[in-house]
Amino acid sequence: MSTEQNEKKLHSKRSIWLAIGVIFHLIYLWSIFDIYFVSPLVHGMNQHQSTLNAPAKRLFLIVGDGQRADKTLGKIYHPGSRKEEYLAPFLRSIILNEGTYGLSHTRMPTESRPGHVAMIAGFYEDVSAVTKGWKENPVDFDSVFNQSSHTYSFGSPDILPMFAQGATTGQVDTWMYGHEFEDFTSSSIELDKYVFNHFYQLLNNSTNNQQLNNQIRQDGNIFFLHLLGTDTSGHSYRPYSEEYYDNIKYTDKEIEKLVIEVGKFFGDNDTAFIFTADHGMSDFGSHGDGHPNNTRTPLICWGKGCNKPVKIDPKDNEFLNDKFENEDMSNWDLDNIKRHDVKQADIASLMSYLIGSNYPMNSVGELPIEFIDDSEINKIKGLYQNSLTLLEQYIVKLHEVKENQFNFKEFNKFEIKSIDNYMKDIEKVIELMNNNIDLESEAILLIEEFNSIILEGLDYLQKYNWLMIRSIVTLGFIGWIVYSFTIFLQMFIIPKDKLSIDINSKHYIQKFIFGSITAIMVFIFQYEKLPLNYYFYLIFPIFLWFEIFKFRIDLINGFNLFFKGLNINKKILIFIFIIIFFESIAIGFENRNIFTYIYLILSFTYPILLFKNTIFSTKKHILISLSWFTTCILLSLFPIQDPVKVESINMIVTSGLIMTIIGIIGFTFLQDKMTKIQKSIIIFQILLIILSIYSTLKAVVSLTNRNGLPLDAQIIGWSVLIISLIFPTILHSINSNSNYKIRFLIIFLTMAPTFNILTISFEGLFYILYSIMIFQWIEIESMSIKSNNNLKLLRISIIGFFNLQIAFFGTGNISSISSFSLDSVYRLLPIFDPFPMGALLMLKLIIPYALLSTGLGLINLRLGFQKYSITSLIISVCDLLSLWFFYMVKTEGSWLDIGVSISNYCLAIFGALFIAIVEVGSTIVLNGVHIEDVNIEEKKSKAILNLKIEDNNYKDIEKIINEDQLDDGSIGSRLKRRNQKIENVD
Ligand SMILES: [Zn+2]
Repeated sequence: MSTEQNEKKLHSKRSIWLAIGVIFHLIYLWSIFDIYFVSPLVHGMNQHQSTLNAPAKRLFLIVGDGQRADKTLGKIYHPGSRKEEYLAPFLRSIILNEGTYGLSHTRMPTESRPGHVAMIAGFYEDVSAVTKGWKENPVDFDSVFNQSSHTYSFGSPDILPMFAQGATTGQVDTWMYGHEFEDFTSSSIELDKYVFNHFYQLLNNSTNNQQLNNQIRQDGNIFFLHLLGTDTSGHSYRPYSEEYYDNIKYTDKEIEKLVIEVGKFFGDNDTAFIFTADHGMSDFGSHGDGHPNNTRTPLICWGKGCNKPVKIDPKDNEFLNDKFENEDMSNWDLDNIKRHDVKQADIASLMSYLIGSNYPMNSVGELPIEFIDDSEINKIKGLYQNSLTLLEQYIVKLHEVKENQFNFKEFNKFEIKSIDNYMKDIEKVIELMNNNIDLESEAILLIEEFNSIILEGLDYLQKYNWLMIRSIVTLGFIGWIVYSFTIFLQMFIIPKDKLSIDINSKHYIQKFIFGSITAIMVFIFQYEKLPLNYYFYLIFPIFLWFEIFKFRIDLINGFNLFFKGLNINKKILIFIFIIIFFESIAIGFENRNIFTYIYLILSFTYPILLFKNTIFSTKKHILISLSWFTTCILLSLFPIQDPVKVESINMIVTSGLIMTIIGIIGFTFLQDKMTKIQKSIIIFQILLIILSIYSTLKAVVSLTNRNGLPLDAQIIGWSVLIISLIFPTILHSINSNSNYKIRFLIIFLTMAPTFNILTISFEGLFYILYSIMIFQWIEIESMSIKSNNNLKLLRISIIGFFNLQIAFFGTGNISSISSFSLDSVYRLLPIFDPFPMGALLMLKLIIPYALLSTGLGLINLRLGFQKYSITSLIISVCDLLSLWFFYMVKTEGSWLDIGVSISNYCLAIFGALFIAIVEVGSTIVLNGVHIEDVNIEEKKSKAILNLKIEDNNYKDIEKIINEDQLDDGSIGSRLKRRNQKIENVD
């Protein structure tokens, strides 16, 4: 086979492997949600009415979107008025005098759709609802709105339609503004103004419309006011800004007015009010994860049917015993008021009870009776009806699971005490309560125990297949790692003529075994009616292990070849080192100091390690060592920066200017090697950077002054972004330069404008230093000649893997969804739209990976390793981290811990995924940097060698090389051959 054919075959095999890798990671990323976050959505239950005597005639549900509990309740320093004040004095007066309050703890993801679904339907929707799209997709389950007499809803087009469309036709009316209204850069208060105005307009309309009037005044209605202003101002200006605070103040005032107007309109005091939030907001101005700032929302209930505040001695306030709570509550001045916390879904039960409707069928909420002002017996009955609603779901689910299992193992808690016995006991106590009210607490305890066991049972049923699916995923991961390593060995380590690929075995036995396993598994899946996703999880381990088994000889031979010449102790040492290294990176995910230490270690060990082995002059070596040392020290500061970045014009402009200067310097030094067209392209790229500084500066200044996004800045920003990324790449691919320095400069300049536009503060500097580091890394690695080629490959891969993590953490990111501030994307998209905004953030995220990937590609070429060998090795070991975090995922404890554990897992997978994706990209970008280029470098080194042969030092080098058994084709063996030649001539 010719080299060209070989190359082609290698290329296509690798492409297939990368493609499999991308799909594998995407699907296994999803598995976590299928395993850990599925809600038991079942259908066909009977309804249970909450109470026969509804306490209130109508209910107002007022939701301050993204309104944090601490900001609603506490005394806050207002940057506008420059004094400490309560932002919601009216709501506070309610807590102090009229209603009951507590915190509503939300689940993850802390987003608007799941938040609203939890409080309105009592149901924690699957995370997979994200893929359904936030807005238009109706909820396909029951809700409080659906059970109300009629619901009038006002607010955002992102939220209202899903409940309107999910309910019985005509049941829910909506008044929504258009999307263009949600301009992040104009005043968010307008959004809330719209809501209140349209509500009053409805009341107004009813005065001359008898039918509407009758409908509005009937019992059991719900009025839902969705106030998006706080969320919008929090996203744009962060939840400690004047804008966010002013919005809270505004809605508070409006609610005060609303209560009076509602009283006047209905002419009674039979209205119940609930104020809460769907989720909070992190200090980054975003939400989504389980940070307390996101999960803690206020819940205040007042009016008809709601309990008055219970005054207590602060000593009896249980929350003050908790360190975190104590600190958080320190500026609330509510120590002497009893606080009742709920889970977000409990709000659904509370609402149902207040208007006496059926509990929503899919609700897992539990009635928080402390909030309710009603007779004890009614409340207990309501609580029991709530249990029956939960029980319906349990029974349906039990049926579903049991029917589909070969050998069903019952939920043990109902084995100890049966459902019937629980029900009998509860009904007996309720019966007795008619005569003896003292039995109240006993009844409550009993029902609450029943509830929690039902919920536990639901959880048990939901996770029934856990062990199996987790095992499949684990086998998949290990399979992928081993398979990738096998491919790596086949492509780069085992000589082509020694591969076992072409052996004419048909693998009959193996096919039979794997075929049988597949058939059995599919049969089990079918029988258990498992969702389609599970089949995808199954495909990978089967395929991967089949392949591993097929090529097991290559794996063993390749492994031995890879570590050839090393004794067992050395092998163990290397193995231990790799484990420690991976472990420290895993710790680094939560303790970013580790990354700083690793950089510090790299800063001096690298030059020392290579010092003895360099073939270059001492002077050049010292120069590059010093610059490497400096870069590492500077870079080491980045991962420990405060992730809450504050927009800094100075930083943005400084980094932009440095990028420009680097461009100019690079151009000056390298222009001799460029063609005319290339010169003009590079000048054009430098101009684009300057243009990006201009547009960003203009946008930032205008946005900071609250003047909205100037259209020209937006247009220039978009044009620069698109042109800079696409145009030079195309031109270069037509007119490629094979010099690797020029290539690296071009890549640096290609992504610089985009990074400049999307930078918030110090990320631009990181981009510069990271690029410099990679460039120096290429230089410093190519200076060494000694050492086993494979170990060198391993070393570069491990440091590459470390830099892969830095590509993420270096820009000040932390592994948390809500740490991605939207500040930077407002310069391009002023109106909230999660998907394009997410795409832009993703672009910013992926750029350092792209730099790294091209850098690794260049090291490959420079050192004369086979094309792609480094990244291939990185990709194959990358998932050790994913597997580690897969087992670290928490499902219990605080949502913060759960959230962090999930983010870590996703991030580890993303690392692997990104490197695979950018690999595909860099293959295109690096296309054209030929071996020819490396030949030039080799000629150079040969020239140096020729010089050195006359030198006395040569003997030493020769000795070193002889000690090392190097593979054919390396500089070392060439030297050896040359040496022999010289001897022959002699
Ligand atoms: Zn939001």
